[in-house]
Amino acid sequence: MTAEEEARRLDAEDPLPTLRGEFLVPPAPGGRYAEAAYLAGNSLGLQPRSVAGRLREELDDWARLAVEAHTRGRRPWVDYHELLREPAARLVGALPHEVVAMNSLTVNLHLMMASFYRPAGERTRIVIEDSAFPSDSYAVASQAVHHGLDPAETVVRLKPRPGEDNLRTEDVVAFLEREGGTVALVMLGGVNYLTGQLMDMPAITKAGRAAGAVVGWDLAHAAGNVPLRLHDWDVDFAAWCTYKYLNGGPGAVAGCFVHERHVRDASVPKLAGWWGTDPAVRFRMDPDIAPPASADAWQLSNPPILALAPVLASLEIFDRVGMDALRAKSERLTGYLASRLAGIGARVLTPPDPAARGAQLSVRVEDAGGAVRRLAEEHGVIADAREPDVVRFAPAPLYCTFHDCHRVAEALAALG
Ligand SMILES: *Cc1c(COP(=O)(O)O)cnc(C)c1O
Repeated sequence: MTAEEEARRLDAEDPLPTLRGEFLVPPAPGGRYAEAAYLAGNSLGLQPRSVAGRLREELDDWARLAVEAHTRGRRPWVDYHELLREPAARLVGALPHEVVAMNSLTVNLHLMMASFYRPAGERTRIVIEDSAFPSDSYAVASQAVHHGLDPAETVVRLKPRPGEDNLRTEDVVAFLEREGGTVALVMLGGVNYLTGQLMDMPAITKAGRAAGAVVGWDLAHAAGNVPLRLHDWDVDFAAWCTYKYLNGGPGAVAGCFVHERHVRDASVPKLAGWWGTDPAVRFRMDPDIAPPASADAWQLSNPPILALAPVLASLEIFDRVGMDALRAKSERLTGYLASRLAGIGARVLTPPDPAARGAQLSVRVEDAGGAVRRLAEEHGVIADAREPDVVRFAPAPLYCTFHDCHRVAEALAALG
């Protein structure tokens, strides 16, 4: 059997057949294949076919009912965000009142830090990873400045050991045990955007909280990628975007988690807006806010329905499949790609242990930008370059196939 036949056999026999047919897969540049092998779902997930109809319904309600659609639409807009609550809670392992869909990711990180980054006395530092996504770096540095602190002293950037690509959990825990008394906030990525490393969130959360720090997670690359148990892990807060693995569309509305112990604590300071008051009294237009004991208390504005509709459509797919089945398929797909990449001698920097990675393999390739262009133009493989020398491949398990992974290996080998 050729490698290609083997890949097709794996697709045909997988216990979770691909849901590719429910997504709009872009055409492959180059002409050799009809469809792209789309490995960039960690940047922007593909469009579910169900999205257009959902948007059309909201546009129709706007046309037919205008302001009345707030209360009489087929999904009344005043509490539209409620429709996302249960699916989002299942996705991240939260209680329903611990999650809310609102804003965008970086905005939510700031709202969370406004509440939970409270530098005082010796305890002022914010711990991130050295390879944090730039938005997170900028956000924490600006929070330090906002509190009158020097970011160079306030922000700690954890680095892998010399010669290694990934952080070791034991090193993060040891740092927190040693210096935790000066740490106000630990805010790492659950899955690192660059290396694809899946952090040991329960262990790091435990160590951070034991050190007296607040622990928040950026789940941009974790939500919809790996199973999460935010409530049980005792995470203080988390935020995630919905346009990567969650396929919610460009700039789609983000998610936010606040642990139950905080939502019940009225003394937690919040930046407030009218959507954060109890809906039962919202339209009394009182001058004083009456926040509910839920993550909704962090909402500011009335939500953008047209940006929520695709997220709702997408979450329905995750609900139908379930994160555990999806993760199992993801491990099979990524494992297959890893073995094919090993076969061609690719230099993978993502951890080899399936438990320490999600659906992404990052490969060192000289001139990453040029390589990604050639992969697309010559092979119809869509991947993503992080200059100077990292190409990221994400076999998103809802719509990527073993055959796509086969195409990646063939294409990378052909680059030489
Ligand atoms: C994608 C990503 C972002 C993007 O932030 P937005 O506010 O959605 O533009 C931020 N942080 C991480 C870790 C990311 O992976």
